[in-house]
Amino acid sequence: MMQTKWQAKQAKPAKHWHPFKLDRAECRLCPRHCRPKNNRMGFCGVRGTIEGQFKTFNFGQSLAATEEIIETEAVNHYNPGSRILSMGNIGCMMACSFCQNWETSQIKHLNAQAVRYYSPADVIEICLKNNIPMISWTYNDPVVWHEFIIETSRLAQQQGIKTLYKSAFYIEQEPVKELIECIDVFSLSLKSLNEQFYQKQTKARLQPVLERIKQVAASGKHLEISQLLIPELNDSDEDILNTIDWVINNLGTDIPLHFVAFHPAYQYQHVERTNINSLKQARTLAHSKGLKHVYLGNTSETDVNDTFCQQCGAVLVKRYGLHAETVNLDEHAHCSQCGTLSTIFMPLAQTTTLMKTEGFANHHGPLLQFPLQSIIPTFGKKEITIHWHKEAQSVHILQLNAKDETETLFIQSIGYNHHIKKILSHGLDRFIISRHHPFETGVVISWNSDCQYQALALLDRAHYPTTNLCTSEHQSIPLKVVEII
Ligand code: SF4
Repeated sequence: MMQTKWQAKQAKPAKHWHPFKLDRAECRLCPRHCRPKNNRMGFCGVRGTIEGQFKTFNFGQSLAATEEIIETEAVNHYNPGSRILSMGNIGCMMACSFCQNWETSQIKHLNAQAVRYYSPADVIEICLKNNIPMISWTYNDPVVWHEFIIETSRLAQQQGIKTLYKSAFYIEQEPVKELIECIDVFSLSLKSLNEQFYQKQTKARLQPVLERIKQVAASGKHLEISQLLIPELNDSDEDILNTIDWVINNLGTDIPLHFVAFHPAYQYQHVERTNINSLKQARTLAHSKGLKHVYLGNTSETDVNDTFCQQCGAVLVKRYGLHAETVNLDEHAHCSQCGTLSTIFMPLAQTTTLMKTEGFANHHGPLLQFPLQSIIPTFGKKEITIHWHKEAQSVHILQLNAKDETETLFIQSIGYNHHIKKILSHGLDRFIISRHHPFETGVVISWNSDCQYQALALLDRAHYPTTNLCTSEHQSIPLKVVEII
């Protein structure tokens, strides 16, 4: 029998396959078209053949549901600042040498302790109980979780919950038709316009990715494109211009394009992080070619991710890191200065779902003048202090001994006038905190219960850390545990 460390308690019938010879099935979910024999898995390691029937082995097998912010997913033109429930699974139909989430995407490296089980109804209930308006299918790659995503997204539709699909999109045409029916937002990554790059560095092919992106664009669903800029692999002016030209020629100049910084990972560790100047050069090239909305991801640089009115130039959305604040944007997505309709969609504007829930300071709020010790809150009897590091500007906060009760935490900025009260309910025990402002040097998290919490550093947005790398400014990367209390 097939054996995996996270073992397939529940093999479920797979979609998109047909019998092939006597003892095989051919999978048609992604263009790889694996034909595993009986009791063997396909390339992704989570789909395989049993007695001539093709099965999915990762239905509901998920990483911990995590509350994040829509900007985490390289989506800037759909309800800026909205809270999302990020769901990732295990396995991948590609094998990128530079994978930023290799600990969960590459089954042979999987830490089985990171895997949990959720039913589709569980996911919906977490959203409803925590007032989270959108589910994001993200991290490793959602393609290989197709059956679970379709079933859960249809349930989400019935409850008025939006869905977001973040993917490298190496997938076939028929499954994309199903996705278009139940997904609201697509954030698709294009690695390069070079076929050799795809074959050598990702073990996939370029052309199907391009065709599927065009398929989504033709559907009219909300679409944003991102490209990871990897030093020495795809960051030359020629590479970048090829991407820009393809985007303009096939998707137009209004589509948001994100150039995203890479951090050394998996098999590609001999280079440094992507330099901010490379990102800025890519943005300059894109603007010079006529693209209107170009953003830079995984950087704490100021003024590189704002959205402007294309008519009068007013700032519509001000962003720093993963934080977004609407400035001159009304709830119907018009510029409040000149009345021009923007290209931002605001279907959730009427809901009370944005991160800026309580105590949200003005983005340009004052630097605190008093000593840092005096802003440590007295709210909780336990606390974790996190100092932002140049390599890590966000953390996942993880509740270690989760109880099925409501839990309240107080989060206070260090060096900046900002605090929030965070409430975790029913099944939500992991959430993101990210640097809020250039003046903010860290945060203090405090609480009153007997729960234990752990902070895991994020090296990138859409990164799912499974181990304790972390964030003291007094240590060099790779850093170890922040604190466990
Ligand atoms: S989804 Fe998995 S099993 Fe199916 S073709 Fe792609 S890699 Fe192979």
